[in-house]
Amino acid sequence: MTAPGASNSATGTLYVVATPIGNLDDMSARALKILGDVALIAAEDTRHSVRLLQHFGINTPLAACHEHNERDEGGRFLDKLRAGESVALISDAGTPLISDPGYHLVRQVRAAGIQVVPVPGPCALIAALSAAGLPSDRFIFEGFLPAKTVGRRSRLEQVREEPRTLIFYEAPHRILECLQDMELVFGPDRPALLARELTKTFETLKGLPLSELRAFVEADSNQQRGECVVLVAGWTAPESDEAVSAEVMRVLDLLLKEMPLKRAAALAAEITGARKNVLYQVALERQKSS
Ligand code: SAM
Repeated sequence: MTAPGASNSATGTLYVVATPIGNLDDMSARALKILGDVALIAAEDTRHSVRLLQHFGINTPLAACHEHNERDEGGRFLDKLRAGESVALISDAGTPLISDPGYHLVRQVRAAGIQVVPVPGPCALIAALSAAGLPSDRFIFEGFLPAKTVGRRSRLEQVREEPRTLIFYEAPHRILECLQDMELVFGPDRPALLARELTKTFETLKGLPLSELRAFVEADSNQQRGECVVLVAGWTAPESDEAVSAEVMRVLDLLLKEMPLKRAAALAAEITGARKNVLYQVALERQKSS
């Protein structure tokens, strides 16, 4: 039997190699060996990867494989593989193809009947999930949300009643807006966790209900820096058989600030079409817990 990862044909092998997401000690011994052994490394950004490889004393030649060229340049890597030489695919950090280039290349190589071998290692979403304390038996990865508010809210609406744990990547300059929209769509009490700068000096894992997490990030601009993953607990059906949506809650909360509870519940029911007595009960609970 051929050992996993060993090529048993005249063609080479494409190795998909994970690299550290911050802490260089997370580079695996197997990744180092493969990166040193292959004929060519296909890298998302060769200038970035050359520093990583230099750090580990690896001199394998690099070629660019990024989102703008991977469809067209696939042929170049295929030629090498067909000639019996192996290639390693790496991205700037973490696991290639996970919100990173590589999908088109892997498809092309597999379609050509050439072996593709994963060399697993760091991945921000898995690292965050492994330490979040949120249900990890079932989860969905949503990648990056749209940058603009309308698109972001609409994507969040699509997963509002998703029961599995939700995982998102987000850019630091959008983290606050992202949490504000999550609070609006998922409701203030949904458990969430911000995993920032994983494996690095300022690593922070902060688990709080969404409204508190948003306030925490709003109050401290340091929390709006660095790389981050946001995890949100999946939806659980309310105990009452009448679910009250986050949008209805938002209307009710706004009205509660302006008028007595009974009037607010009645007006919110008129505006949203939700049942008045249900909103009244919800408003009562809201007042008790505030
Ligand atoms: N391929 C990578 C992986 O396996 O996680 C992800 C690449 S994607 C372009 C970059 C995003 O991943 C960042 O914007 C952030 O959301 C997340 N990320 C990467 N490194 C991280 C880290 N050290 N801590 C927290 N999030 C990280």
